[in-house]
Amino acid sequence: MEDELENGGHFEETAIKEKPAETHRQNSDRQIEQMRISLKANLSAQVLFMMNTCIHCGICADACHYYCSTKDPDLIPAVKFERLSAILEKHFTRFKFRPSFLTKREPLDDRQITKLFKTAYEDCTLCGKCALSCPMGINTGEILHLARAMLCSIGRQPSGLTSPVQTACEVGNYLGLSTDDFVETIEWIAEEMEDELGVENFSIPIDKEGAQVLYIPHPLEVRDLPFLVMYPVSILHAAGEDYTLSSYDFDPVNYAYYQGSKDNMMRITQRVLDAREKINAKSIVLAPCGHGYRVIRWESEKYLGKRHAFPVLTIVELIDRYIKTGRIKLQKDAVEGPITYHDPCNIARRGGVVQPPRDILNALSSQFVEMQPHGALNYCCGGGGGLGASTDYAQKRIEMGKTKVEQIRRTGAKIVATGCFNCMTQIRDLIKAYDMGIEVKSIVEIVASSLIPKSSNS
Ligand code: SF4
Ligand code: SF4
Repeated sequence: MEDELENGGHFEETAIKEKPAETHRQNSDRQIEQMRISLKANLSAQVLFMMNTCIHCGICADACHYYCSTKDPDLIPAVKFERLSAILEKHFTRFKFRPSFLTKREPLDDRQITKLFKTAYEDCTLCGKCALSCPMGINTGEILHLARAMLCSIGRQPSGLTSPVQTACEVGNYLGLSTDDFVETIEWIAEEMEDELGVENFSIPIDKEGAQVLYIPHPLEVRDLPFLVMYPVSILHAAGEDYTLSSYDFDPVNYAYYQGSKDNMMRITQRVLDAREKINAKSIVLAPCGHGYRVIRWESEKYLGKRHAFPVLTIVELIDRYIKTGRIKLQKDAVEGPITYHDPCNIARRGGVVQPPRDILNALSSQFVEMQPHGALNYCCGGGGGLGASTDYAQKRIEMGKTKVEQIRRTGAKIVATGCFNCMTQIRDLIKAYDMGIEVKSIVEIVASSLIPKSSNS
């Protein structure tokens, strides 16, 4: 695992070409061996089945925002995962103990590996939409996640993912915020909210033993956009929730998942789980972060092989419960519509949270309008899969977001609401790049802006 952290960054093709042939061969053999170990650790029967059942019908093409935005046949999901299949066929025999004189293994073809790198990290956001249209249920995102794991094992990963993972593993959050900075900022936010809430000496609980809800904020909000922390706090306060923040962990982000390293992914996730255990909180509620939710709610259970003994929710699910149980009341149309909703792939399609945001938006707006398609079938915004973490992919994100732009335009909405910080950033960039003249907002912000104050709430 330390090797993975140390070997990060873009692969330097020229470095290998300059080496003598024998060293190149040894290097290739070492890389094949590392990839084999990773393949063994990460290949599931399900992925193996998917790689062997493609009937080449091409139906998946129209599910993929890459293909829809470009009409480039190279970006059809089935074509993309074939790049991994070709490498597996060429270099990885099933017979572990096959005598070496029978294998005559060819050295790793660097052009093939470079193409796989581009396909796995740049040309697929792991959104999973293709799986829902494929008659064989083939999820190219799952297959290319395996490719990422294998590439990561030989140190090939986008530089934009290396540093945040390393910082998260070393410091405990991907931005490297200190506990003191975090606590100080939260105390300052509480002071700022005092007047607005009309509560003297208002404080935001930190490390409260036995709280019903441990809320994990997004560290980028804490550091750069504190008003985005005020919105969920004002909702938790309005609901009379028994909540707390943790000084031990304040980061749902997990770029190791996108890196392809399950060990790093779990190391980062474990900190969130430990934070809950330290104070015996009854549930974990996460700031809007699509992949963070996916990892903490679903991937960590898969990794650990057991269900969490406590609920893990997005803040959106909790807000929905508050509305349905009357714990908060909203003023209708306080925020002018029409409003549409972008389903973050990792929360809707890959997380199962489809209805709650719709119920929330219908509760606060008479002008909620759906994108087509939406919910589990929604198109990726183009910024998922870790692409948003790397400036190298900024232009690619904008180009591949064209499908999302067209979806949004067809709704006629003035506001796009969403429940993921990364999607919000991507849609904000799309709005600017395509001169859309509309706004993107966190659904949490829209709820907070529609809250009927407690005094007039009884
Ligand atoms: S839809 Fe499925 S079976 Fe058809 S080409 Fe795509 S991956 Fe293959
Ligand atoms: S997972 Fe998403 S981005 Fe990747 S091939 Fe499938 S539809 Fe395209």
